[in-house]
Amino acid sequence: MNLTKFDYHLHTKHSDGEMSFNDLLEALKGSVDICGVSDHFELGHSHSIDLSENYINEFNSFREKAKSAGITVYLGAETGLGKDGILLPYKRPQIEYVIASLHKVPLKEANFDEYWETYKKIVSKNVKKGGFTILGHVEGYLPLSPFIDRDLSFKKKREIEHYIIEKYFTADWYSALAKDLVENDIALEIHEQSETPRLMILDIMKRSGVTFSYGTDSHIAKQVSKRNYLNMVIQELNLKESDFLSMEKIAQKI
Ligand SMILES: [Zn+2]
Ligand SMILES: [Zn+2]
Repeated sequence: MNLTKFDYHLHTKHSDGEMSFNDLLEALKGSVDICGVSDHFELGHSHSIDLSENYINEFNSFREKAKSAGITVYLGAETGLGKDGILLPYKRPQIEYVIASLHKVPLKEANFDEYWETYKKIVSKNVKKGGFTILGHVEGYLPLSPFIDRDLSFKKKREIEHYIIEKYFTADWYSALAKDLVENDIALEIHEQSETPRLMILDIMKRSGVTFSYGTDSHIAKQVSKRNYLNMVIQELNLKESDFLSMEKIAQKI
């Protein structure tokens, strides 16, 4: 069975991506049927957008053009997870869904153990609290900056991440998280760029009834058509369309 080609994690040059809305449209053609733009909209984030009328107008014109090309587009936002809740600067009625990802652990000084335990605590607390649609890259693109050299390669960062998740992000922690994800109707993101969460974790989530979202987290055009990790996961876990969130239903609810 062919699943709908969707992607709910896309950035434009309005936050930290490189693509204009027109570039994004060109990249989407042929690769995607349904998608969402999710520029950063987060307190304290250096690339947070201003959801101004101008941005909304540009988005709406992009949405119309995409529709003519047979692509359905939603307006989302990627925000952060803070100690006391998500880090949305303010509410905009136009936002149809929210991805929340932990981009910064609010600790001035911490040892390695304390840092990752705090990361997990903040994720758990926010998932219990709810108020967002998708938990973004929970074990990928981790906030490594206090511990690494900025120039470290993409590959090296992923290796460090792998060490961290194997050590701290246990099956037990995920089993507890799964219950709250289900309870609060939050989907777990399968993140293409970092190829996470690990298959064994996705398996736990599936068995617990967690709904999945998918995002390439594209910042440049050539990332938009990548589906390597998703295809592997679909095959290994025998995922069906019904295992993924239906944005149509969600956007109507908001
Ligand atoms: Zn992110
Ligand atoms: Zn992102």
